[in-house]
Amino acid sequence: MSKNDTSPENGTPATLRPRTRMVHVGTLRTGFDETCEAIFMTSGYVYGSAEEAEAAFATDGLRYVYSRFRNPTVAMFEDRLAAYEGAQRCFATGSGMAAVFAALMCQLKAGDRIVAPRALFGSCLHIVKNLAPQYGIETTLVDGTRAEEWRDALSRPANVVFLETPSNPMLDIVDLGLVCELAHAAGARVVVDNVFATPVLQRPLEFGADIVVYSATKHIDGQGRCLGGAILCDDKFAETLAPFLRHTGPALSPFNAWLLLKGLETMDLRVAAQTDAAQRIAEFLDGHPRIARTLYPGLKSHPQYELAQRQMGGGSTLVAFDVAGGKAEAFRLMNGLRIVKISNNLGDSKSLITHPATSTHQKLSDEDKAAVGISPASIRLSVGLEDAADLIEDLDQALARA
Ligand SMILES: *Cc1c(COP(=O)(O)O)cnc(C)c1O
Repeated sequence: MSKNDTSPENGTPATLRPRTRMVHVGTLRTGFDETCEAIFMTSGYVYGSAEEAEAAFATDGLRYVYSRFRNPTVAMFEDRLAAYEGAQRCFATGSGMAAVFAALMCQLKAGDRIVAPRALFGSCLHIVKNLAPQYGIETTLVDGTRAEEWRDALSRPANVVFLETPSNPMLDIVDLGLVCELAHAAGARVVVDNVFATPVLQRPLEFGADIVVYSATKHIDGQGRCLGGAILCDDKFAETLAPFLRHTGPALSPFNAWLLLKGLETMDLRVAAQTDAAQRIAEFLDGHPRIARTLYPGLKSHPQYELAQRQMGGGSTLVAFDVAGGKAEAFRLMNGLRIVKISNNLGDSKSLITHPATSTHQKLSDEDKAAVGISPASIRLSVGLEDAADLIEDLDQALARA
């Protein structure tokens, strides 16, 4: 391996199709000529001489000097994901929340303002609603599905717009093109948490977003094995972000980077299969006598179906629905499932089901739950890699007993 090789492509032509590139881009081969990417479990690197160490620090970034800054296995993951997303740069982090926190806080200071939808992943909401104000940063929350609320919130200067689409857990869609235009006119950068859509189904950068963040724990690993995160951006933003990461240290373990790197090789295939299954399951649930409503961006009945069609390549791997009745019926359905497992995680090869009101969103007041569409009957299903027919039969038998 050339230790000076900082090219993100490493000889893999950008003209190749994404599926091909995800198997090869970023590979750094050592002198042992291994087929599979190596795991570099090392915190530091040695120098042949004091002069070499001096030169390494002088030409910052050209050599590996410490794994909090850079590591070859982590670099392979970053280069491969950057190539898929079409971003100039990718920075890996130890979890999705570390990515969200760094992407926001590296650029904000006291007196700045964030605009974000109310419908956000729980910890993301905690950062913008509770932590940011502690640092003197103002936060304005909007209903992310309403253009007039975005227009109003962005009619005065702002610094960051942070959003998630589809949102957790009720799969609201935010109009990326519109919000990016309004945000830029207000002087704000747009940070998109693209976890629910995945890079397979949605490319926020193409709609004008400035920064994309991932919990790689979800579909990028896709097999429920480890935590990880990533921030994708351009070279200019990297100048602000890189020192923040280097000095605050949310670094990804090389071992986890290797799992995520191998996850990228199959992500496209997995997400496509899971999305096909989710579409079939949503169609089965929609109109089922024991289901009060089904929310899936790939169903014509979704309130923002047209918008989802415009900005997403599929309805996603998640389905939200309300059972007829309330909490008791929702619990009976979940307890009656044989294949689908009860878990608050998502994006796994195993189908997982959760009751947001009593798990992921338990801490929200009843009023706040209602504001984002979570009722005692609401359920979020993350569709895995099982055969869709088996999942539908499992839901059908559990619904019969709910
Ligand atoms: C899971 C998740 C996160 C947090 O990621 P972790 O890897 O658990 O830290 C952030 N945003 C969304 C939308 C998520 O689903």
